Amino acid sequence: MGINLEGITPEEQQELERNVLLTTLEQVKGWARSNSLWPLTFGLACCAIEMMGTGGSHYDFDRFGVIFRASPRQSDVMMVAGTVTKKMAPLVRRLYEQMAEPKWVVAIGVCATAGGPYVNSYSVVKGVDQIVPVDVYIPGCPPSPAAIIYGVNKLQEKIRYEAKTGKKVPIENV
Ligand code: SF4
Repeated sequence: MGINLEGITPEEQQELERNVLLTTLEQVKGWARSNSLWPLTFGLACCAIEMMGTGGSHYDFDRFGVIFRASPRQSDVMMVAGTVTKKMAPLVRRLYEQMAEPKWVVAIGVCATAGGPYVNSYSVVKGVDQIVPVDVYIPGCPPSPAAIIYGVNKLQEKIRYEAKTGKKVPIENV
């Protein structure tokens, strides 16, 4: 954000621009939130193995401020990794409701996105977005840890963009 004050010399103007940073409280909150995402540990099937691999030392999810939590009360991101069965669906919804606002949902893999290989099964929900609102969909069966990191980076961009503009936006517009 530029600084324009009346009555100051060009040197003072330059000095101000080098040393003073102006922003808004909302942007600072968005920046802080996007860099301290605490996902609810939520493995439903094979995609969870890739999610766990992403949290391990090789891919080191912690470097993005992503720290897994075991309680919905401490979490602001629900990462749905795996097949959502109809039996499990009410529990997914209840856990989502137990998370405090603001909160986001990431669908990891084609099962969580749209039912995946089990799309024709009587017992599988055809995408977790039928029970909770999803912010980011990560394709793959399963997606690699690199793809999961990319998806979470897009969520971070979305959080910062929404904090800056005050608008809810689909991920492709970030
Ligand atoms: S998308 Fe593939 S790897 Fe992931 S839970 Fe479904 S079947 Fe398993």
